[in-house]
Amino acid sequence: ESTESLNFIEHIIEEDLANGFAKDNLRFRFPPEPNGYLHIGHAASICLNFGLGEKYNAPVNLRFDDTNPAKEEQEYVDAIKRDIAWLGFKWAKECYSSDYFQQLYDWAIQLIKEGKAYVDQQSSEQIAAQKGTPTSPGSPSPYRDRSVEENLDLFEKMKNGEFEAGSYLLRAKIDMASPNMHMRDPILYRIINKAHHRTGTEWCIYPMYDWAHGQSDYVEQVSHSLCTLEFKAHRELYDWYLDQIYDSKLLRPKQREFARRNLSFTVMSKRKLLELVQKKIVAGWDDPRMPTISGLRRRGYTPDSIRKFSDVAGISKRDNVTEVSLLEFCIREDLNKTATRVMGVLNPVKLIITNYPEGKSEILEMENNPELPNSGTHEVPFSRELYIEREDFKEEAGKKFFRLSLGNEVRLKSAYIIKAESVKKDENGNILEIHCTYDADSRSGSGTEASQRKVKGTLHWVSIAHAIKAEVREYDRLFLDEAPDSHEDKNFLDFVNPDSLKIIKEAYLEPYLANASMDEKFQFQRLGYFSLDPDSKSDALVFNKTVGLKDTWAK
Ligand code: ATP
Ligand code: MG
Ligand code: MG
Repeated sequence: ESTESLNFIEHIIEEDLANGFAKDNLRFRFPPEPNGYLHIGHAASICLNFGLGEKYNAPVNLRFDDTNPAKEEQEYVDAIKRDIAWLGFKWAKECYSSDYFQQLYDWAIQLIKEGKAYVDQQSSEQIAAQKGTPTSPGSPSPYRDRSVEENLDLFEKMKNGEFEAGSYLLRAKIDMASPNMHMRDPILYRIINKAHHRTGTEWCIYPMYDWAHGQSDYVEQVSHSLCTLEFKAHRELYDWYLDQIYDSKLLRPKQREFARRNLSFTVMSKRKLLELVQKKIVAGWDDPRMPTISGLRRRGYTPDSIRKFSDVAGISKRDNVTEVSLLEFCIREDLNKTATRVMGVLNPVKLIITNYPEGKSEILEMENNPELPNSGTHEVPFSRELYIEREDFKEEAGKKFFRLSLGNEVRLKSAYIIKAESVKKDENGNILEIHCTYDADSRSGSGTEASQRKVKGTLHWVSIAHAIKAEVREYDRLFLDEAPDSHEDKNFLDFVNPDSLKIIKEAYLEPYLANASMDEKFQFQRLGYFSLDPDSKSDALVFNKTVGLKDTWAK
């Protein structure tokens, strides 16, 4: 394989291998905090880590970074597992930072005994005030030089629940003058009096991220701990913590950073997504307008399209914003090759073929997917009374109107050529019925001369007697601004699009869709790609529009 196609993380690994690192020791992990659902940004990290696992035939752990019981829940653990599995990845082991609470505690005791950690009893405001600035050293806590015995005693009392939350902390004793603020006696443990979703009330002291993360990597013998750029400044601390406990007979993990995936016209932080859910701006984490994996799935995105997107968008060293149109391009490409072609009418007007025998109907064959060899056909009933889209008819055609108009012909997709003869209107001038005649010799695929006749437009339609009525939900961007959370003077919620959901209560679909399943994707001809929503009941189907046929946002 040429090195041109490697991303910079793969270059780092290749270099390690070239320097003698044993390929069998490669091991990766994806470390979500179960405090929300996974989003398309997480997919970048999932595809990176599990992609490396596939490429190097190395194990990838799923590690729940569950060190803050105030925010974490079992519901999120379950959703995260579901989403990763749906993306098509298999983790080697399901791990939890909480499984290492005892080990982390023991290592903290070791730090205390070595004079490298101390119990502080100042408020977090006092501690922050002593931190100094990046250009001036901080000042030491008055408790920095407690004796080892006193520290051991206080830490045990912390653990035993003898103190209030916020009253005592365990801090590493590193360097209050370090140019790296993270090295100025960082907090190792704080007291949180909340039940943990796995350890219950066994613990009331919880390790901080920096203390838990590298040590968890070490316990699991992760070789390359890949995280996002905001942790770059933490790397020195990651290494310092490992230095304190590292046994040279074991593998020493190393942290490397890549840029977060940002997407235009949305927000990506779980805190903000949670806000959208809690304020009921969306219907839930899996609302099809959400950039979550579950929202995209419900919208009709496929695992392949998300993996493709991660691949095409790539891994970057610098922060950047990926256009949402790239994501839409990826799903459109995928569905074009896989979606079954069907017909549905979203804004119906009645069309009567006056010279078609009353009471007659016939079955036409429609190709399932012209892009997919051997995808077969399905049956579509045709009869005298049809629905077409209201927008597909005008009494008088302007110069650029190639759809149906009085006196002009169009083809009904996979059926006949028709000509509009007259309209019936209500007292307000609204069209109630379009009366047409058809050319009985013009049926598509019949091989007749009339069937080859060229007419300017082709319309989709459904037979009224056979159609099923369904609800269709169409979505627009959830935010009107390209970067809703980048404005200093405004909250991201100020940019919520008030018209991001359009519900069509009475769409008419060809009867083939009565048996639609969530896994099958559809192209409603001329309208876009659609997918069954889990809100569906057998007699009340609901379809979501995944994406249009063309990029309507392109300028
Ligand atoms: P958020 O701010 O959305 O809550 P997080 O980083 O706190 O994100 P975690 O659950 O800790 O969320 O993330 C799990 C893994 O996914 C981490 O390694 C993290 O760096 C990575 N990750 C999270 N968001 C992104 C993103 N937007 N792009 C790439 N990787 C991400
Ligand atoms: Mg977080
Ligand atoms: Mg995190």
